[in-house]
Amino acid sequence: MNYISTRDKGVKVTAAQAIAQGISVEGGLFVPDTFPSFTKDDFHTIAGLDYKARAKYILKHFLNDFSQEEVEYCVNGAYTGSFDNEQPAPISLLGKNANILELWHGPTCAFKDLALQLLPYLLTTSAKKVNNGKKTVILVATSGDTGKAALEGFKDVPDTEILVFYPSEGVSPMQKLQMDSQKGGNVHVCAIKGNFDDAQTGVKKIFTDSQVKEKLAENNMLFSSANSINWGRLAPQIVYYVSAYCDLLGRDGDYLENGFNVVVPTGNFGNILAAYYAKKMGVPINKLICASNANNVLTDFINTGKYDRNRDFYTTISPSMDILISSNLERMLFELCGNNDKEVAALQAELSEKGTFEVSDRVKTALRELFWGGCCDDEATLETIGKYFGEYGYLCDTHTAVALNIYGQYIEATGDDRHTVIASTASPYKFAGSVLSAVSDKKAEGEFDTVRLLSSETKTEIPAPIKALENAAVRFNTVCEKQEMLGAVYSALGIK
Ligand SMILES: *Cc1c(COP(=O)(O)O)cnc(C)c1O
Repeated sequence: MNYISTRDKGVKVTAAQAIAQGISVEGGLFVPDTFPSFTKDDFHTIAGLDYKARAKYILKHFLNDFSQEEVEYCVNGAYTGSFDNEQPAPISLLGKNANILELWHGPTCAFKDLALQLLPYLLTTSAKKVNNGKKTVILVATSGDTGKAALEGFKDVPDTEILVFYPSEGVSPMQKLQMDSQKGGNVHVCAIKGNFDDAQTGVKKIFTDSQVKEKLAENNMLFSSANSINWGRLAPQIVYYVSAYCDLLGRDGDYLENGFNVVVPTGNFGNILAAYYAKKMGVPINKLICASNANNVLTDFINTGKYDRNRDFYTTISPSMDILISSNLERMLFELCGNNDKEVAALQAELSEKGTFEVSDRVKTALRELFWGGCCDDEATLETIGKYFGEYGYLCDTHTAVALNIYGQYIEATGDDRHTVIASTASPYKFAGSVLSAVSDKKAEGEFDTVRLLSSETKTEIPAPIKALENAAVRFNTVCEKQEMLGAVYSALGIK
């Protein structure tokens, strides 16, 4: 297996190169040129393993130029001691069919930890192979959760510097505090006046600017990305969908004769894309259900085949999904277009020129075959939190609530209530104010009083990493204009 670019199949690199580089030179994203295909026997073998062994089994297929020892070193480093109960992705079954895949038991309480605890190991191992001793500079644009998870993963990792940009008005108070108080000698955090798309566009522009690249090279540095444009973010996410399937299999062998559906609260399309790849590898996923908040550009795309980012942008209570340019959709388009790099390059060019594109009828059909899309607003999100807490005593965060709401819409529209895995992407305590308002009339003043009240009202435990933030000192308070991002990068790196 090698990696090719979605915009130019002629570009062919190893896993280490793809991960160290982050994005291809012409702006395309790296994808494997072939996928492993797992048989029933493979899944039964995987089902008998613990999470780390499952990860090793699956990831070695994607890390073509890593030795077995390197794969083991990376996976052991990532998943030992960093997740509650050594179980990174437990499932809670609600009712008969709703399997909530809880992906927020890591150090920053969001699903991004599953990939970002591993990425620093993958990246430093890759950089040793391909970067000739250069320091790796990680640039991150975040809608809230990636930033903290990346900072936590990369803090004090030798030969790396990490710089995170977040929208100053676009993250929750807890997300902001998590980032602004980040410890570590190689970490930098900067808020920008703009939204997530501005941050992401700015970062992509800095990455692909050849003058900037030269300047870094003069200083013996090199960029890479911890955003889900980096393949090293996606591969670890495939693992938990395979793992979830194996857990369901273990519970009841014939449980899944008709396959199962997956619902994913979606922003940048990384998480749901990983589920698609798992399906491609043989996991019997029936429908991939794409859940959006009021920023419903993907719902419209799935339903009409027309992608149109020229619309109002909403700041919602599920901020990690406040995105109008879903960067990983490019990888999905590559799949849907039958690996036609020219077609993908043309669509992406249209998107960046006009903010919109429409796929061919063939692609529309393939898209609707695989996906079902739905969206809901903040009011429905809160109602859903209340409903699940009332019915099952299960407390979920705002993003997971969007997924559960769309899950309900899907069943109502189709009558298909087969077993379903719902990706639960964050702890409710990251969005305590919104979640509390959904389950109680009581209110508290400060963020941590709100957290404590949420805990006493719902009899649920405050995650340790959230508790620890209360007395954390704020280290970063820079806010810059979106045009000033490059300046912020140079200043963080001490480059003139
Ligand atoms: C990042 C994030 C999402 C969206 O995931 P994508 O991979 O960008 O689609 C959903 N929920 C939470 C809590 C997140 O942090």
